[in-house]
Amino acid sequence: MKPSMGLTGSAIDNKLILHQRPPLTRSVDVMPVISYLTTIRFEFGAIQGIPQDLAELGIAKPLIIADEGVAKAGIVGQITALLEGSASPPVFTRTPTNPTEEAVEDALAVYREHGCDGLIAVGGGSPIDLAKGVALLAAHDGPLERYAAIRGGIPRITAAVAPVIAVPTTAGTGSEVGRASLITLRDGRKLGFISPHLIPKRAVCDPELTLGLPRWLTAATGMDAVTHCVETYLSPRDNPPAEAIALDGLKRAVDNIEKAAANGSDRDARHQMMMAALEGGLTFQKGLGAVHALSHPLGGLKDLSLHHGTLNAVILPVTLRFNQSHAEAKYAVIRATLGLAADADLADYFERLSGRLGLPKNLAEMGVTRAIVPAIARAAIEDHSHATNARPATVEDYERMLTEAIG
Ligand SMILES: [Zn+2]
Repeated sequence: MKPSMGLTGSAIDNKLILHQRPPLTRSVDVMPVISYLTTIRFEFGAIQGIPQDLAELGIAKPLIIADEGVAKAGIVGQITALLEGSASPPVFTRTPTNPTEEAVEDALAVYREHGCDGLIAVGGGSPIDLAKGVALLAAHDGPLERYAAIRGGIPRITAAVAPVIAVPTTAGTGSEVGRASLITLRDGRKLGFISPHLIPKRAVCDPELTLGLPRWLTAATGMDAVTHCVETYLSPRDNPPAEAIALDGLKRAVDNIEKAAANGSDRDARHQMMMAALEGGLTFQKGLGAVHALSHPLGGLKDLSLHHGTLNAVILPVTLRFNQSHAEAKYAVIRATLGLAADADLADYFERLSGRLGLPKNLAEMGVTRAIVPAIARAAIEDHSHATNARPATVEDYERMLTEAIG
């Protein structure tokens, strides 16, 4: 019998071979984990399914998490009206622009005071991320920092997390299907809390809720969706299903963002933008990149309270210039997907798109000064989105990108 390859040689050799780990071609940080988990209702009028969702998830006493803007727009009222028959649920609307540890604790106190057993998050990324933080601490002992991804917190988050129904009212963050929650701790660090258990048990995507969004918010949150699709597509994690979704989301977003911003009542454009945002969120599992590694710590600057999507719109072109040499083939696919010329400059293209949408030209216009460059560049290296940038970046690279984005 011919000895099979690898089993020749001494017993010691055999032992070595049999116990050898298979070679890893990528670091564990960028190893793909392909996973689709969320149940999604998606249609005009989808919120009418919420009572059924509550029943299916066994939530008898939900806490509604929203913000003042969403409450004023009457959306919280529309949802509580659907829950007739049960006692009016408690509502927490003190969600800051960037959710904070303090706000998580305040909302958690309301959750416990009313004996709640689940959450309905209504709003943009902030109320949804805040609700995820409450759902986490409702079933896990604090402090919150223990569960941060960069503190090794991912395995500490268990299936005991309280169930969340996410009802996005903007088309951008994708948080309704994302496993991450971004929360600014007391010391000012904006950290990512990441776990499949934090994914909302239901996403209720009702484009009707976005018809009243003002132009700037439509543009800024829409550019967040654009950035999610671009960054996840360029991420080196090998996940073809996610890449196909990212390209589809990017095309929908680019084709419709200006229509939705120009005419908020354009129902088809609103529908397409909400789908683009959802798709951007479905691709998060590929990992984001330098845009988010920078916009997360910038969003943690409490004195400036900078809007996440607006930050991304400004930073995206700078990172596209930085990444180009490491992603030529993928840039070509993006150009083809968007129907651009083969030699089109993607950075210029997205810069002009943001300009037409009336978004800021640079971070200086948003109040960011060069004094914060070293601290933000160091925080970017620590951010969970850093590992999957298309091109490995150093602190100095982040300093250069940030300085260019400040203008
Ligand atoms: Zn984002």
